Amino acid sequence: MTRVFNFSAGPATLPESVLRQAADEMLDWRGSGMSVMEMSHRGKEFISIHAEAESLLRELLGVPANYKVLFLQGGAIGENAIVPMNMLRGRASADYIDTGEWSKKSIKEAKKYCKVNVAASSEAGGYASVPRQDTWKLDPDAAYVHICSNETIGGVEYHWTPDTGDVPLVADMSSNFMSRPVDVGRYGLIYGGAQKNVGPAGVTMVIVRDDLIGQALPITPSAFDYKIQADNDSMFNTPPTYTIYIAGLVFNWIKAQGGLKAMEAHNRKKAAVLYDHLETTSFFYNPVAREDRSLMNVPFKLRDESLDESFLKGAQARGMVQLKGHRSVGGMRASIYNAMPIEGVEALVEYMKEFEVSHG
Ligand SMILES: *Cc1c(COP(=O)(O)O)cnc(C)c1O
Repeated sequence: MTRVFNFSAGPATLPESVLRQAADEMLDWRGSGMSVMEMSHRGKEFISIHAEAESLLRELLGVPANYKVLFLQGGAIGENAIVPMNMLRGRASADYIDTGEWSKKSIKEAKKYCKVNVAASSEAGGYASVPRQDTWKLDPDAAYVHICSNETIGGVEYHWTPDTGDVPLVADMSSNFMSRPVDVGRYGLIYGGAQKNVGPAGVTMVIVRDDLIGQALPITPSAFDYKIQADNDSMFNTPPTYTIYIAGLVFNWIKAQGGLKAMEAHNRKKAAVLYDHLETTSFFYNPVAREDRSLMNVPFKLRDESLDESFLKGAQARGMVQLKGHRSVGGMRASIYNAMPIEGVEALVEYMKEFEVSHG
């Protein structure tokens, strides 16, 4: 068996030990005589798996007691509609900060449900930075302020937490969730899909302050009403059971690595290997402002784009895959989530150096 270094932006690489444990437990989960995917979601075995996943998530992130943790379906793209349906709470508009492709998608969808005020945008600068908060034109009557904490395509990340006063801060954390500690109490709502840092696609995690729920628009599908799901322990409908199980294994793995502080230190070290190299060369470049560079997704381009294909081919031959940049931006993108070992990033930089010598 040969495993590659998989730089996919998502679904993404998972810790090998988690995959091995899942394989070991595939046919008979801990003496139950069943695979997790064959269990009733209402049986005591799965209830214990679900409860453990939630309690690990709460422990790792330090989620305050007045926040609900929901495991839903529909993905972060689904949440782009589900958030306004639940969070408008009788108000007419919401503020959105536009930092790239994922913010733009959130804005477009929210416009179906409310008036959207784009309070700040980095579009004019090619989405190469996060607008400083003193430039934001926030509306004190907004239902909430929405940010994307890590733009997976553009490689732009917030390394600070906005202060939105009494207006709840809502964050799409899909691609940096569980990559570092978060002060959950400063957010009204955090959401994200699993397939970047947490597990296979299929579960959407929502962390929401409990006083904000219970006022969903009447048109909200019951399965996407946070209050209904919270009252039913996320089991109003059948939850994505197997994905929740793998997420629990990943949370245990994060805990064994030393928790989110250790995860962040590891992620900083990994990202520095790549960004430091990008500083030393003009053959490759990354357009993002230094202080806003993502620790998770590192887009980079070759000055000579005609070499792109040959760079990707050579990478593939060395067991490094999924480095092609998103179709909207081109070039390369290395996604280096929690489960990417530092050896993968070092191998990539070694290859970049070799490629530059032979083609520069
Ligand atoms: C991957 C991603 C999404 C999309 O998630 P889906 O599961 O496809 O709905 C949304 N936002 C961000 C920031 C992402 O990285």
